[in-house]
Amino acid sequence: MTTVGILGGGQLARMMALSGAPLGLRFLVMDTVADACAGQFAPLLVGDYRDEAALAEFAGKVDVATFDFENVPAESAEWLSARVPVFPNPRALAVAQDRLAEKTLFRELDIPVPAFAAVASRQELDQALATVGVPCILKTRRLGYDGKGQFRIRSLADADAAWQALGAQAGTVGLIVEAFVPFERELSVVAVRGRDGEFRTWPLTENWHVDGVLSASLAPARVDPALADTATGYARRLAERLDYVGVFALELFCRDGALLANELAPRVHNSGHWTIEGAETSQFQNHLRAVLGLPLGATDVRGRACMLNWIGAMPEAGPVLAEPGGHWHDYGKEPREGRKVGHATLRADAPSVLADALERVGQALGRQSQVAPPVAALRGG
Ligand code: ATP
Ligand code: MG
Ligand code: MG
Repeated sequence: MTTVGILGGGQLARMMALSGAPLGLRFLVMDTVADACAGQFAPLLVGDYRDEAALAEFAGKVDVATFDFENVPAESAEWLSARVPVFPNPRALAVAQDRLAEKTLFRELDIPVPAFAAVASRQELDQALATVGVPCILKTRRLGYDGKGQFRIRSLADADAAWQALGAQAGTVGLIVEAFVPFERELSVVAVRGRDGEFRTWPLTENWHVDGVLSASLAPARVDPALADTATGYARRLAERLDYVGVFALELFCRDGALLANELAPRVHNSGHWTIEGAETSQFQNHLRAVLGLPLGATDVRGRACMLNWIGAMPEAGPVLAEPGGHWHDYGKEPREGRKVGHATLRADAPSVLADALERVGQALGRQSQVAPPVAALRGG
């Protein structure tokens, strides 16, 4: 009996545990809070990631360790990896945790990125605004997620407000300024690399964010094959350089038909949730296969799939469940503003059938604006 340890007990760990059950796997989830939603399906160890005693208990009970949470301290991952195999490796995790290290690596690998500059002081912010230009975004280098830790700078007059908002973090998590990209679309590559170096990707996904939080994903994205090849080439380059094992996502902006890399998420990714019903093998199952050294499953898609995120509170399930290709995922979390509490995936073979289903669901749930972008994409808009 193999036990997979997961650091972080959110919905990603929960879906990983659900997808690992048919493989006969056991799980142990570690989280800092007792009500972590993965704990509803797997034993939960509550502890601080920096607490050696807790980490030692975790290491003693698992055969291999992985993450649902990308901000586990790199030193803790390092400490663990001396005791139990850890995938992805702690160095890959460390790079992906730091926007500066990440963007520097992208550049080194000839993966285009928006202009950026590190910022350690108020004076350096002015210098960065001069070199990067406005509009731009001041971001924390570490610990940001769902658009948190970001301040949009529209003109030089916003510099003081930006510093007021985030300046205190310059000496702790660090700051970076990135040029604002007026992109036409956002795409992501969800990829998996096995212990033996085998590399696979799911088809590109198109993503729509609202206030920095993912709202909807549509797959396969409608892109020309050359662009898709470029994107998967970037993902492969990163995976090979980092000797990455497991699933990761590369978030990309598409502007004037060209790609710019935004960030690398060193874990299963929200833009890959559609693979549960929309692909031959889901990202969760392939992540487990990768970290366990098992053969990877095919990443072929079944028709088209659209994922809708439920933020704050779960809507009524009926309208989605009434659809022939409707699938419901309630993470079992307490409602809270801005919190990802669940998602739905709608799947159909034909784009127009999927668009119709999305419109019905959007209408029934009063979420017309959430379904509008994928519907437009499916209808060729
Ligand atoms: P995630 O939850 O994906 O980890 P995050 O907090 O790490 O999010 P980003 O991915 O950097 O943040 O930004 C969130 C969203 O904000 C992006 O998907 C994009 O819509 C927008 N955004 C971020 N950076 C830029 C940029 N440089 N130009 C334009 N839009 C941006
Ligand atoms: Mg991120
Ligand atoms: Mg992101």
